Amino acid sequence: VADKERVNNVAKIKVVVRKRPLNRKEIAKKEQDIITIELNSSSLTVQETKLKVDLTEYVEKHEFVFDAVLNESVSNDEVYSETVQPIVPLIFNRTKATCFAYGQTGSGKTYTMQPLPLKASQDILRLMHHTYQNQGLQLFVSFFEIYGGKLFDLLNDRRKLCMREDGKQQVCIVGLQEFKVSNVETIRELIELGNATRSTGTTGANEESSRSHAILQLAIKRSADGKDSKPARLIGKLSFIDLAGSERGADTTDNDKQTRMEGAEINKSLLALKECIRALDNDQGHIPFRGSKLTEVLRDSFVGDSRTVMISCISPGSGSCEHTLNTLRYADRVK
Ligand code: ADP
Ligand code: MG
Repeated sequence: VADKERVNNVAKIKVVVRKRPLNRKEIAKKEQDIITIELNSSSLTVQETKLKVDLTEYVEKHEFVFDAVLNESVSNDEVYSETVQPIVPLIFNRTKATCFAYGQTGSGKTYTMQPLPLKASQDILRLMHHTYQNQGLQLFVSFFEIYGGKLFDLLNDRRKLCMREDGKQQVCIVGLQEFKVSNVETIRELIELGNATRSTGTTGANEESSRSHAILQLAIKRSADGKDSKPARLIGKLSFIDLAGSERGADTTDNDKQTRMEGAEINKSLLALKECIRALDNDQGHIPFRGSKLTEVLRDSFVGDSRTVMISCISPGSGSCEHTLNTLRYADRVK
């Protein structure tokens, strides 16, 4: 019973904001830190500098409240215990959970997201060995990206993949490599391989990866006979999504046709994601998955007993004020 209570105690949707420190470039440009977070508070204030008609400056303050607000001194370990750790035990109980990193390029999405699956799989393996031993449970890892509305396997040379639905709200990504893993070292290697495989194009890593959503999934399965001769049955799943840069959704007027198309796709998927999470929160029967490839792929994670964590990453500098406000308004809608 105690276990059950703890399981049900975890909020269905949690929205967390993480502020990163000012970086060297921002300091060199003499940008001000415009984000104030009181110690142990779940609210933050953005100070936006605006111009009056007579060109004098004034400051407008915007206050936001979230489930948690993490300032620049919070470590990745603390981010994990605040967001994903409470969910881990649930996925042994048929829950599907999803953790998103949202924010403009350079706000810390990848920095925040990268360590989480590793820490989660550490805890999953521990639970498998101690609490759920001898039950034939296995842990599988897959890692793919959505780029321009298409799927690519990050653990198989960016092989193009396609998605199929089985009519029972199960999504199947045909040909996606799933690796059975039993130790953290192997998982670390797979994550590194996947990250290195993310589209980097010719212009440098952050530039291109900011246009794709990277999705890493940890699946717990039970093998029917313990010998892998029959397909294992899914028990629970934990997905980590490093979303495309939120500002990319505005690339819809760019001169380059490719960039424009990608921008439109990103815009569509971030809007669809917001709508799906809102529908989840309101317990609406109808969840608008069909809005984008991203939400279609995540369809089975939104039905049944699901948990969603949104980590909104923000840059502290005055030069990012507009993007930061956009990110916080998006997070505010999801909450
Ligand atoms: P994004 O994935 O959103 O484009 P990154 O995660 O690549 O952004 O972060 C941009 C830069 O800022 C990286 O050099 C990263 O190491 C640094 N950074 C991001 N968040 C933090 C943080 N909380 N503390 C220290 N450095 C950070
Ligand atoms: Mg990134």
